[in-house]
Amino acid sequence: MRYEKIVLLFEDVKKTSKRLEKTKLLSEFLMKADEKLELVVLLLEGKIFPGTATEKIGIADNLAQKAIVKATGIEIKEVEAVLREIGDLGEVAERLLQSKQQVSVLSNEIELEEFVMNLRKLPFIEGKGSQDKKLSIISTMLIKSTPLEAKYIIKTITDKLRLGIGKSTLRDAIVAAFLSEELYIMDDSGSLKINDRKKYNAVIEKIQYAYDITNDFTIIAANLKESGMEGIEKIKLSSAGTPLNPMLFQKASSITEAFERVGKPAAFEFKYDGFRMQVHKSADDTISIFTRNLENVTKAFPDVVSHFKEFVKVKTFIVDAECVGYDKETGDYTPFQKISERIKRKHDIEKMVEKCPVEVNVFDILFCEGESLLETPFKERRSLLEKIIVARDKKIVLSKQLVTDDTEEAQEFFQKSLSKGEEGIMAKNINAPYKPGSRVGYGIKIKTTLEPLDVVIVGTEYGEGKRSGYFTTFYIAIKDENELKEVGKVSTGLKELESKGVTFSHLTKLLKPFIINSQSTKITVKPTVVIEVEYEEIQKSVNYSSGFALRFPRFKRLRTDKNVSNINTKQELLELYSSQRFRNN
Ligand code: ATP
Repeated sequence: MRYEKIVLLFEDVKKTSKRLEKTKLLSEFLMKADEKLELVVLLLEGKIFPGTATEKIGIADNLAQKAIVKATGIEIKEVEAVLREIGDLGEVAERLLQSKQQVSVLSNEIELEEFVMNLRKLPFIEGKGSQDKKLSIISTMLIKSTPLEAKYIIKTITDKLRLGIGKSTLRDAIVAAFLSEELYIMDDSGSLKINDRKKYNAVIEKIQYAYDITNDFTIIAANLKESGMEGIEKIKLSSAGTPLNPMLFQKASSITEAFERVGKPAAFEFKYDGFRMQVHKSADDTISIFTRNLENVTKAFPDVVSHFKEFVKVKTFIVDAECVGYDKETGDYTPFQKISERIKRKHDIEKMVEKCPVEVNVFDILFCEGESLLETPFKERRSLLEKIIVARDKKIVLSKQLVTDDTEEAQEFFQKSLSKGEEGIMAKNINAPYKPGSRVGYGIKIKTTLEPLDVVIVGTEYGEGKRSGYFTTFYIAIKDENELKEVGKVSTGLKELESKGVTFSHLTKLLKPFIINSQSTKITVKPTVVIEVEYEEIQKSVNYSSGFALRFPRFKRLRTDKNVSNINTKQELLELYSSQRFRNN
């Protein structure tokens, strides 16, 4: 198959923004792809390597410009001038090849396979003379290409290919290509329509599951083509080494709500604030570490690799964990930002290991000794972890866990986690399987809600539209010795208070007699009305006189029982701020 064919498809797909139309165009193409199916799927994903391979072609713009010069004989100055005019190097290549083609008839054909194979060589060309070798590969392809092909070659090699084909569109196109008779009908206008929604959803769920395990649409397409849904059901987690999309968690605002969602008893765990790590040990003893986005970061964590080799007593595994930094002197966990620089690190890795040591808190296991554990209940997965991991503080540990059906006990555990400086806790369904890639309710995060603050209203603003004539925004302040210092402005939360008579109109009436200055949009009022506010966190801020701002403050209630002398102080605010340990940077 010629590369030009797929390039023409890209152009057609770009012309429509309708998902079903895109699906139809793509699926028709996939149906005709025959033995080139896997390559076509790959290119539709905008990739040249299958799966989660992270090699990037990454050709710099100036090398791509040189290749255009070499292929067309046009001077670099002209290439630069056209680039300044149209801004996109791919389009520059297209235009310059068009003008060149009027004098040259030397166009050959580029085969799909040839295109991919050539591109796959690029990331591995290193060392002396590497630029010239790359230049030669690219310019040779450009010489053989049509102007449109040249545009896509340049976009691909400079990592600027934006096809506008989302993962779910490609998934649906693969389904439409190979299961169309069962799931789709064509209406009179030739548009694709889903035949039976229920059946369709069930199929999509299975396909998505297979994708979340493999992260590889080429496998999905090949299996579906060869043996339909049976081929998809055959896709199982059968080895370590290839990352799976991690299971995600939902949120709850209280222990009671968490119990309602994950059932009783539940497993509660400290929620560590680091970054997620999926660690694999394959049959050949290789340890690989992947981030939440499935990036392979093994090279940046030689310390973690050796801990897993030493302290996990099985031959093959895949575990889910949170990697947390700690301070060498105090042993305390450090903010995530401190270790974030380790993730992308390519040089001086040993120095970084020294400077930013990490502890890995393992909280789940997905695969062990050649067997998938995805369907195994969480409590069994956890007890397996307890058997196979030899916990070593500041190296590799199991996340702290408490299994209980008692709200008070869970509450205490929550407080313990907070007092250790953690972000909150996780509540997990002990009987649930591991569902890769889904935000299912098998695990729930319960985060800190900080103690509400009593503050006084020191300023206000009129609302707009329906609310003009009422004060709707309120500047709030805390006490700093004999002064009042602002910590933000609040305008939400009143809806819930309506039934108690606390409305914008009521607050406006309360505040009007105390107006001091109404010259600007912000009206200053005498500090008399005390309110209780909730908020997500306290941040440093240059916008308010206290030097801090409450994030997402909400009205909780009117504190008519309090006056300005009883409100919270800056000292108390500072204490709360430092109890948020991990956010203090
Ligand atoms: P999400 O990952 O759900 O999109 P996020 O990245 O903002 O959201 P949170 O929502 O704060 O993270 O919480 C989920 C994350 O908490 C997990 O992805 C994991 O990295 C981390 N975590 C820390 N401790 C645990 C634990 N014991 N069990 C599961 N996850 C944990």
